[in-house]
Amino acid sequence: MASEEFREQVRERSDLLEVISEHVALKQAGRHYKALCPFHSEKTPSFTVNPEAQVWKCWGCGLSGDVFAFVMKIENLTFPETLEKLAARAGIKRAASEGRDRSNDDRDRLLKLNAMAVQVYREAAKENPTAVEYLRERGLTHDLIERFQIGYAPPTWDYLINRLIRRGIDLAEAERAGLVAARQGRSGYYDRFRNRIILPICDALNRVVAFGGRAVDDAVPKYLNSPETPVFSKSRVLYGLNLARKSVTAQDRVVVVEGYFDVIAAHQAGIEQVVATLGTALTPEHLKVLRRYTQNAVLAYDADSAGMAAALRSIHLFEESGVRLKVARITEGEDPDSLIRKQGGAAFERIVEEGVPIVEYRLRAIARKHDLTTESGRTGLVREAIPALRQVVSDTDQERYLDRYIQFLLLLNPERAGERLTRMAEAIRREISQQIQRSSRGAKESAESFQNTRMISSAPSALARAENQLLQSAMESAERCQWLFGQIAPETFVDERKRAIADLLWQVAATGEKLETQSLADRLEPEARQLFIDFLSETGSVPLTEPELLDCIERLRHYWKRHDMKRLQELRQEIEAGRLSRDDPRFQEYWQLRLELQGSHTGR
Ligand SMILES: [Zn+2]
Repeated sequence: MASEEFREQVRERSDLLEVISEHVALKQAGRHYKALCPFHSEKTPSFTVNPEAQVWKCWGCGLSGDVFAFVMKIENLTFPETLEKLAARAGIKRAASEGRDRSNDDRDRLLKLNAMAVQVYREAAKENPTAVEYLRERGLTHDLIERFQIGYAPPTWDYLINRLIRRGIDLAEAERAGLVAARQGRSGYYDRFRNRIILPICDALNRVVAFGGRAVDDAVPKYLNSPETPVFSKSRVLYGLNLARKSVTAQDRVVVVEGYFDVIAAHQAGIEQVVATLGTALTPEHLKVLRRYTQNAVLAYDADSAGMAAALRSIHLFEESGVRLKVARITEGEDPDSLIRKQGGAAFERIVEEGVPIVEYRLRAIARKHDLTTESGRTGLVREAIPALRQVVSDTDQERYLDRYIQFLLLLNPERAGERLTRMAEAIRREISQQIQRSSRGAKESAESFQNTRMISSAPSALARAENQLLQSAMESAERCQWLFGQIAPETFVDERKRAIADLLWQVAATGEKLETQSLADRLEPEARQLFIDFLSETGSVPLTEPELLDCIERLRHYWKRHDMKRLQELRQEIEAGRLSRDDPRFQEYWQLRLELQGSHTGR
């Protein structure tokens, strides 16, 4: 099968709406669908899908394209990988002999190697008494072990290596996959994971990209993860996301925990919308990944863990992600795993349910540190609370938090909640709100002036607008298209990209081809193609009436008339200065222009 033919077949069978809705929550808006853009941070949806034309576009970050572009971007795949994935999804096969990209092959080999290692480790887990005993003690059911593909790496230095060699694997490749490490100062390799329970880490497509190893004795570190590899980046990958995806979308909430066994314990209790960060602090990248599925995240970390402290330091980074981050109040020294074992899944769910916004959580923690009955305690509180409040983006949010904060302060000292405390809370409130106003004024002014300059520079000229409107109306129907090119020629368009689009539409109108927009887009050069997709994705455009379209046409003609007159003037000056001989082509041009401008200027 020719590759182009294959590509078109895959495109035809991959519904854009279906594919996109696997990643983002789409809402219908007229003929289009909207969602929060999965590619940049935003709070109001500017990601638009046009199902008829099978194109998508984000008006915020400017990215756009077809179903292939979407999958490439969101799954971080190469084009051949994307083609492969969508073909598999649509159940289309092609001959194995067809050429494929080399870097794609490379990633593929590492993924295959990981899959092979999973098999080896799982076999070992079934046979090895240490592993069987460990998993039994943890109370893991057979079903859970299967679902998480839990395995075991025996204590020897070459257990995996021997099995890889038997399968003809190049160990240098296994090193690149992070499965083995090179011996220091000597030739050869050794197994990276030894005497550890192996927890395969999957990407959202269920492919094993890395491993976590939990020591079964008191080896250090307790948890050992794969290094970063061409298929694994720990600041983006979340453990359990492959199993949580559906539940996260259904519940419109994700619970973020710190450990592998927190995820597994939650599953055991029937709670599936849980993912874990992999020994790193929660990053904005993580939230970007999660935002494809939901805007609501609850952190369920041990209250005194390093991870919790790191998250509280990064509040401002999370604020920009567009994810509403709450914190479940888990008692110090507990984690979801221990909590679920002691109190059951329902107790954990209740704590998640009662999670408080991360800013509030931080404010409570600050208040607990200070003695508010003393002057120095109150000053200390204000000094610490202001930076925390300032991280809340909007002013109204700050006000709201402040009010809740005061209420909370009153609750904090119930035995002394007399008139004196109320007055004190009021004093703190005033102080904080004044300081916030003072510090935010400067920032806001500069932001406003920035916005104004952007508005001016990005406002399209009347001419550009007229051209856009004409093309968009031509794209609405074959009749409109024919009508338009009965009025003007495609060359009338001033902008080069729009001229290309007009030319294409004119051809379509002339030959009576169907306005199959996606395949049309492919016939354009990249820049014009981009614009074409923009037109297709534009929402809320009301179709123009014929007189309105004629006005637009008039604007184009007016432009050319002025353009021609300017040119005529230039040429006249040349002639008058005696610089043009009679056989100069520009001499001809001069007379041509004079003739045209004398008559009515009908098209070009
Ligand atoms: Zn965007």
